[in-house]
Amino acid sequence: MGDNLDPKDWPAFRATAHKMLDAALDKMQSATKGPVWKSPDVLQTDFEVSLPVKGKGIEATQQQIETLLPYGVGNTHPRFFGWVHGAGSTSGLIADIAAAAMNANLGGRHHGAMLVEKQVVAWCREMFEFPDGASGLVVSGTSMATIIALKVARDSYSGMGQKVGYASESAHNCVARAFDMLGLDALRSIPVNAAFEMDTEALKSAIAADRAAGLQPFCVIGTAGSVNVGAIDDLDAIADIAAAEKLWFHIDGAFGAAGMLSDALRPKLLGLNRADSLAFDFHKWLHVNYDAGFVLIRDKAKHRAAFSDRPDYLAPATRGLAAGNPWPVEYGPELSRGFRALKIWAQINEHGVERLGAAITRNVEQAKLLERLVNEHPKLEMVAPVAMQIVCFRHLGSDALNAEIVLRLQEQGIAAPSTTIINGQLAIRVNITNHRTTDADLQVLVEAICRAGFNPP
Ligand SMILES: *Cc1c(COP(=O)(O)O)cnc(C)c1O
Repeated sequence: MGDNLDPKDWPAFRATAHKMLDAALDKMQSATKGPVWKSPDVLQTDFEVSLPVKGKGIEATQQQIETLLPYGVGNTHPRFFGWVHGAGSTSGLIADIAAAAMNANLGGRHHGAMLVEKQVVAWCREMFEFPDGASGLVVSGTSMATIIALKVARDSYSGMGQKVGYASESAHNCVARAFDMLGLDALRSIPVNAAFEMDTEALKSAIAADRAAGLQPFCVIGTAGSVNVGAIDDLDAIADIAAAEKLWFHIDGAFGAAGMLSDALRPKLLGLNRADSLAFDFHKWLHVNYDAGFVLIRDKAKHRAAFSDRPDYLAPATRGLAAGNPWPVEYGPELSRGFRALKIWAQINEHGVERLGAAITRNVEQAKLLERLVNEHPKLEMVAPVAMQIVCFRHLGSDALNAEIVLRLQEQGIAAPSTTIINGQLAIRVNITNHRTTDADLQVLVEAICRAGFNPP
């Protein structure tokens, strides 16, 4: 390939790499400055050229990469409040540099990176109070974790009839997607109560109706932190129902499961440690850089049975490179896997769970502060209770006005909330999973929404 390994090319390559490192550090050091977001359209033509026949070299390539840095989604900024994004970690850069240098493949085999992923799996068991026999896998995110967990659920279920699962109507779309991809027969959408938590009486009735119709209920999915309003289903009650009905109990804890590290949230997650499987993200409220998700399965044997069919060319050995069995490839659909585990390990190793949990607690307090600011403001009203870190409210006025306010805040780079529909009305949705957000940022947000002269249509 003629890469930069020629000794005479090293000094120039080092200089280019250092330039990139400096630019990356500058970007991170100024995370709280400048607009939250600006449109990347100015770069568009640079990324619409035809396939390079001759390469432009690393210096030109580095320069073009550098032009991208100001055009992120904005989630490293303290006033990014859209959807549920983690704010990322500055020091995560260090782990990613090492991972790039090692170019490790964590599908299997006996090498240093595997020790790191095993350590992460063990820490996850501790974090979520799962038993020693539980297994886990680092994945891209909760969407993939959900597919893996529900595959294990499906395979462990021996019933013969049409398989039916249950999730609340507030469940994330990745659950329905997993049902679709796994060819599962039906997912029942269970109504929610006024707090947007699954109505567990309705769950029981739905299960009874399906049994009466000769169908085979096999799985119930609890949500620990709904994407719309952050509601936490009554996990303990669902665990009781799952136990009584002999159903697999899966939890989508994409961001909410991290609340186990927070004194403010842990009591609300009672029953989380009773799940058969848990899907969650390190890249959301634990701020590991994208992407970093995890699936944790209570019964290691069932987990392995769902994926372990190793062909001859992947035969295990007790010595040499093919040792270190079982391999991660036996716990999920991917063979080649990058070294995501390192940035996860580094984040926990650097900060410790106490500090990561304290940052979560601070966000929960900030959500309460924002709720207060909204309630005190004559032009604003709350539209959903605050369960964790998501605050949904409206400017008194039309849906169009609220949508326009959010667009203008984004386009002016002042703040980046998103929108959702609550009880049929468009709401401004502010999610605070951001360790850089200060109380003052919330004041700025509320003032910007209501600024005199803002004057939307
Ligand atoms: C983000 C999210 C998901 C999807 O997770 P990805 O990591 O984006 O795949 C699923 N469920 C909930 C509740 C989420 O917030």
